[in-house]
Amino acid sequence: MPITDMRKLEAVVSLDDDERAWDPDGPSTLPMLISDSLIPLLSNPAIRHQFVPTASENRDCIGSLDPQQEAEHHGTKRLIHRYGSRAAFCTTDSCFAYCRHCFRRRFAGHLAGPASREEILAAAEYAASHKGIKEILLTGGDLFTLSDSRIEEMLSIFRSICPGVILRLCTRAVLTCPERFTNNLMDIIRRYASMGAPFFLMTQFNHPEELTERSCRAVARFVDIGIPAFNQSVLLKGVNDDEETLIALSDKLLMNRIKPYYLFQDDPVRGTDHLRVDIERGLEIERNIRASLSGLAMPQYTADLPDGGGKVILTHQYLKGRTMHDGRPRYIFETPDGEERYYPE
Ligand code: SF4
Repeated sequence: MPITDMRKLEAVVSLDDDERAWDPDGPSTLPMLISDSLIPLLSNPAIRHQFVPTASENRDCIGSLDPQQEAEHHGTKRLIHRYGSRAAFCTTDSCFAYCRHCFRRRFAGHLAGPASREEILAAAEYAASHKGIKEILLTGGDLFTLSDSRIEEMLSIFRSICPGVILRLCTRAVLTCPERFTNNLMDIIRRYASMGAPFFLMTQFNHPEELTERSCRAVARFVDIGIPAFNQSVLLKGVNDDEETLIALSDKLLMNRIKPYYLFQDDPVRGTDHLRVDIERGLEIERNIRASLSGLAMPQYTADLPDGGGKVILTHQYLKGRTMHDGRPRYIFETPDGEERYYPE
């Protein structure tokens, strides 16, 4: 049975004072939910930090519940249309476990329930009538908390009304509930994935030890049927804010046919300050891992700017300036090893 309160959690793991003092009615608003699959992983502090709430959440009262101002960019009730080419459909507010760094905590775990047939239809029709939309993120919450029949209904509506739009299946269930990916569910996904624009699996693994045998098998079920997998990690203090961990994560992702895609700066959402890494340190990490990783293994360190500002790539500045040489302009670059090189214009 999933764990929903500290009393039940204390029966299976010993808690520290900060965890025990968490106030479920505090200002951070995200309920506690830890799935069965996560319990054996809680002995790893990096995984525990992501799922076991602490009193620090109650103290971190600054920041917005909706730093990206998604609520102001609704195309339809469940469809967020903040960027021209893509939109996010909130399939449900439920997840198998709630991540303490969740940026959508204004919505996740708030009993909004699954999207109705009318809400799915409205979103699909909106996407079909806005030709700029090329991708829809099926997100939430977690799409895979829905029943097979609801998932099938949703995929069939999107496929019949906007077949040319790519669907991104955004989920943490490959970690939090890998047994969810049954033969029946995968048959449904395979059927609809072959009917139009491609599907992409978007995972969120933040630490190499989250790539358990079971979670890797769950991802492989998608990749084996031709659905590419991309990983979006979040840079989190005490979880993965060191080069060694992020390099090991990228290596393990690639070995499991998952492309490391983004490394997100944790959004300034209320209740998450204690998990956030300084951007200055983030840039240092980005530079150091870039020196060790191939282009294929390197995720893009990215910040989603507050007030709906959009995504920006954060990277060390290798271009140092421009100069003249023998009457011709040339650029001055810093190499990954810290040396200087010139590039003719
Ligand atoms: S799985 Fe996603 S939506 Fe659910 S709590 Fe985690 S980050 Fe939030």
